[in-house]
Amino acid sequence: MCGIVAYVGPRDAAPLLLEGLARLEYRGYDSAGLAVVGNGGLRVHKDAGRVRALAASVPSRFPGRTGVAHTRWATHGVPSKANAHPHTDATGRYAIVHNGIVENAAELRAKLEAEGVCFASETDSEVLAHLIARADAPSLAEAVRLALSQVTGAYGLAVVDREAPGQVVVAANGSPVVLGLGDREMFAASDPAALVRHTRQVVHLDDGELAVLEARGYRTFTLDARETSKRPSALEGLSTEAYELGGYTHFMQREIHDQPETVARTLSGRLDDRFSTAHLGGLELDARQIRSFRRVRILGCGSAYYAGELGARLVEELARIPADAESASEWRYRNPVIDPDTLYVAVSQSGETADTLRAVQELRRRGAFVLGVVNAVGSSIARECDGGIYLHAGPEVSVTSTKTFTSTAVVFALLGLYLGRIRDLSPADGARLVDGLRALPGQITTVLGGEDLIDAAATQLAAASSSFYVGRGRGWPVAREGAQKLKEVSYRHAEAYPASELKHGPLALVGPELPTVAVVPDDELFEKNCSTLAEIRARSGPVLAVAHRRLPAELAETSILVPKNEPELDPILLGIPLQLLAYHAALALGTDVDRPRNLAKSVTVE
Ligand code: GLU
Repeated sequence: MCGIVAYVGPRDAAPLLLEGLARLEYRGYDSAGLAVVGNGGLRVHKDAGRVRALAASVPSRFPGRTGVAHTRWATHGVPSKANAHPHTDATGRYAIVHNGIVENAAELRAKLEAEGVCFASETDSEVLAHLIARADAPSLAEAVRLALSQVTGAYGLAVVDREAPGQVVVAANGSPVVLGLGDREMFAASDPAALVRHTRQVVHLDDGELAVLEARGYRTFTLDARETSKRPSALEGLSTEAYELGGYTHFMQREIHDQPETVARTLSGRLDDRFSTAHLGGLELDARQIRSFRRVRILGCGSAYYAGELGARLVEELARIPADAESASEWRYRNPVIDPDTLYVAVSQSGETADTLRAVQELRRRGAFVLGVVNAVGSSIARECDGGIYLHAGPEVSVTSTKTFTSTAVVFALLGLYLGRIRDLSPADGARLVDGLRALPGQITTVLGGEDLIDAAATQLAAASSSFYVGRGRGWPVAREGAQKLKEVSYRHAEAYPASELKHGPLALVGPELPTVAVVPDDELFEKNCSTLAEIRARSGPVLAVAHRRLPAELAETSILVPKNEPELDPILLGIPLQLLAYHAALALGTDVDRPRNLAKSVTVE
């Protein structure tokens, strides 16, 4: 789930590996470690805690030009030095780093223990080191292949062998591994972020694929020992600046503030004034196929799911096709009915979310057409889908999503517009929406200008141990995502409810101690929302409204104002103050904003 970096070449490996790990820190992790091979030995250094601390404590003599490194996000066993990767076999010949979960680890461990193997950690991953050491094979590559043939589950894996000092073997299955091709040196990583400083030429491993890396090149093959031939691709749209703070204190803050530009990038080249529609190059569908869909079903997890809910409303409203969203993590386990007339859309920032990826694979296997809405170019979901729409929001470093939530909503507006204009949306309405979309970046700048007021409101919110987020209709997914943001970065409890549901139960909790954040657009439900606020205020509940006009004090103590766009597009803007609210609440509470506890950026475990 977390980070892997590997190097083989003429340079000293440890500094390169540590620098690579630092670039993966944003993904969230609890321990870090590295192993290098050189001067006839294999050396391992690892611990629970930060990469910085690891770098500071690496022995001054740590020679080796081949190595692997890891940031761990614990799944099996607490974060500790013993459980940190790399793991070695009993003789200290092999060192492995592993992302993901070995699902049959308990069984394999019992078998190995019965054969007399002693385990040094509680992890599922350690079995891999012992299996490799016990494989009867003439080469490291073959030993890894044989070991993996006994394993079920997901892995990104990198292995070094004291007896093969110029080699690293890597493997991928449900957890990404990218090779980075250098000049007489080779890199590998679980995320291109670790490679951008060194190379632009990459090779993505497919599921069930392995590679042997040497300074002079690489060779790829499958689990059943067939050689594969892979064409390198160029890393596009990734620059090292995207991974730097650029004057901000946190990546979350930077990414919120980057939204005028990232939304402009999402829109770039996609607005068509001539036919008042959207251009979506990667759909791989013609108008006739689009007309034949009777439903749209959107799948995603976490913020991608909430963005999908916002998207479902947009698509349904603009294209008048029934549309809904479901969490991919639930969908895939309930033997869902797959309908041939449904357009399925998978949403994932990283394009590596395991639950969503499995849902895509299941859909494709059953003959459904799946579109991917993904930020990370070339990621697994992007590669597995029939067609797709990239967000083009640039790398998102903060673990909590902000700019990619907004860009996903924008993509759904484009999709809704496109589908709508093929179906029943009039040219006049199309033109109205094209203008509305074009206005978004400027309006986001206006929202960001109100940060001081939001900061003050956030202090109040941070003081309460729990809060409600409410919205109705278009505002409801916005409220859900707002509550999720607050939970993720401030660790304060927040619960989202449709405003319409409040009086059907949760109103029992409302009182002076429980603030409500209300999303109140100026739309046909404005009066209904005001009634809900009056009910809250009548019970002395504090109300903070995000709205298009200032609400009277009897309805809300504070109104955070957002510029008005077209009603369908308003939710995109209404979400932005809620991101700032969560950010400032987290600052007030002193949490680790960019790396919230227990979370990881891309959830590649199931
Ligand atoms: N399952 C492994 C462990 O708990 C790897 C976790 C990861 O992906 O970082 O150590």
